[in-house]
Amino acid sequence: MRDDNCIFCKLANGEIPTATLYEDEDFRVILDASPASKGHALILPKEHYADLYELDDEVAAKTLVLAKKMVKKLTPILGCDGYNIV
Ligand SMILES: [Zn+2]
Repeated sequence: MRDDNCIFCKLANGEIPTATLYEDEDFRVILDASPASKGHALILPKEHYADLYELDDEVAAKTLVLAKKMVKKLTPILGCDGYNIV
């Protein structure tokens, strides 16, 4: 379910234009509009979850797999020595 008042739902579902790095049926990965570091990206589920407690285990597992995929994709492009997943 989506929340019409949630900006992340709007970003994830394309209602607000973004710099999209990746998209599939469950997620959109975008560059952060106010990056804390070079390559700062957000992994956004297309369904609304208010917090980690609401996130079902299947989506949680997919999130980390996607984070790994994005690190593999972005590391050589950015030429960075490391990364943080927050
Ligand atoms: Zn949301």
